[in-house]
Amino acid sequence: MKDCLFCKISKREIPSEIVYQDEILTVFKDINPAAPIHLLIIPNKHIVSVQEMEPGDEKILGKLFSAAKKAAEESGISDSGYRLIINNGPDAHQEILHLHLHLMGGGKMKHPIG
Ligand code: 5GP
Ligand code: ZN
Repeated sequence: MKDCLFCKISKREIPSEIVYQDEILTVFKDINPAAPIHLLIIPNKHIVSVQEMEPGDEKILGKLFSAAKKAAEESGISDSGYRLIINNGPDAHQEILHLHLHLMGGGKMKHPIG
């Protein structure tokens, strides 16, 4: 998608702190972290949200979770714990219309969420 910020990040057309990338996905630091560790995990393919998934995208979504597991280990938060959040649509305050998994941890979070 031509004017999508996260497509541009995955293509390295605009700078970001990428910590991992392969042919399916990109992991980078959130520009405005809401936790000591706050990474975004995105498919390189432009998928707007879970609601816009197409047949076959399940595989990509599965890989996002595997990447989250690996990133949590490499960030040292796999034992202390972390949150994985996907905001979908206006009520959830999805600001960037390119599906992304927030990986947040490194400190005790508020409970309950919402
Ligand atoms: P959403 O509300 O859509 O779930 O979350 C969007 C996230 O993207 C926010 O946490 C915001 O800080 C992050 N973000 C927005 N613009 C940029 C950017 O240009 N670079 C990076 N690295 N993160 C961004
Ligand atoms: Zn996009």
